[in-house]
Amino acid sequence: MTETPRRTNLLGMPRPELEAFVGEFGAKPFRARQLLKWIYRRGQSDFARMTDLAKDFRAALAERAEVTVPEIVAARTAADGTRKWLLRMPGATGSEQVIETVFIPEPGRGTLCISSQIGCALDCSFCATGQQGFNRNLTAAEIIGQVWLANREMGHDPDGERLITNVVLMGMGEPLANYRNVLPAMQLMMDDFGYDLSRRRVTLSTSGLVPQIYRLAEECNVALAVSLHAPNDRLRDQLVPINRRHPIAELLEACWHYLERQNGRSVTFEYTMLDGVNDTPAHARELAKLLRGHDAKVNLIPFNTFPGTKYRRSPAEVIRRFRDLLVQGGLMATVRRTRGDDIDAACGQLRGQVMDRTQVRLGSRLMRLAVRA
Ligand code: SAH
Ligand code: SF4
Repeated sequence: MTETPRRTNLLGMPRPELEAFVGEFGAKPFRARQLLKWIYRRGQSDFARMTDLAKDFRAALAERAEVTVPEIVAARTAADGTRKWLLRMPGATGSEQVIETVFIPEPGRGTLCISSQIGCALDCSFCATGQQGFNRNLTAAEIIGQVWLANREMGHDPDGERLITNVVLMGMGEPLANYRNVLPAMQLMMDDFGYDLSRRRVTLSTSGLVPQIYRLAEECNVALAVSLHAPNDRLRDQLVPINRRHPIAELLEACWHYLERQNGRSVTFEYTMLDGVNDTPAHARELAKLLRGHDAKVNLIPFNTFPGTKYRRSPAEVIRRFRDLLVQGGLMATVRRTRGDDIDAACGQLRGQVMDRTQVRLGSRLMRLAVRA
């Protein structure tokens, strides 16, 4: 018996590969651009409905290719309009895993916060995702598929106003630890025939994988956010363990290099406000001194709690005073408004349903490998 060949998922396939793929059917490269438009802009997954493609080309595609998106297992909407989707993913060990995607509507813009990994191996002590350990990297299809699904679920009209104006890689996972799949997904977000977002509207947040920051500076100059959370190595070593490998001075050097390649945009430093840990006036002054003179913005994130954490959120007046000290110290500083916390959709609360202890151990081993690479 002959086996039917597996169909190729076109979702997440970079444009040059898609051009080569359609070339195998004798189609010209512009057919790939038409396909991109159908898949991303119009949200179409059925080749039969791609009406400006020749009938036999559509039939050939249906035989050899598919557009497969992750499956939604639950959807929730918060009182403030924030939406969260739980997506089912096959896990690394045949287990079933769930990741999360969040849409945050604001006047004049809509931000989609997407995940890049199932869990995270970097083990930051104040992060729900990190506390779960690591299962596997998401594929490019699973990363861009989150944008595709959110558009479909919100009833996106391709000729109407954009619902998703910004994408942030601030969900579950460390995007730079999954560089290989994150890069093509971001390129499709910015492709004229993909989602056509400008570089300023795609933000990658990293806990500080220094070699990959240099690589990103060359290959895909999106907006960069860096999770700093402490003004000195002693404290950052405890909160963000990757700091033991890439300490603050090395990280900042990479950030200033990124800025140089970026022409006049700033790097955002995220700083989660943890009561009595990193929120004193002395910390604020130390932070201002560290970043002063560079195009740096500080975004203070009130800590979002989750079951089992030992941390508490800094009181609102402590956060305000901290921000004022940064501004007096010559920095731009804002406080992030917490959204969707009644559905556990706020920063650092995403946990999906991941793993068991073996995976956690595997996660930290993989982290050591990733960090050495
Ligand atoms: N791994 C990447 C991106 C995901 S986390 C990174 O660490 O940058 C997005 C942001 O939320 C990061 O700045 C992260 O440090 C912060 N964060 C994590 N847990 C949090 C929590 N419980 N409360 C508030 N912010 C948190
Ligand atoms: Fe991973 Fe980011 Fe959470 Fe740290 S803060 S554990 S890098 S997701």
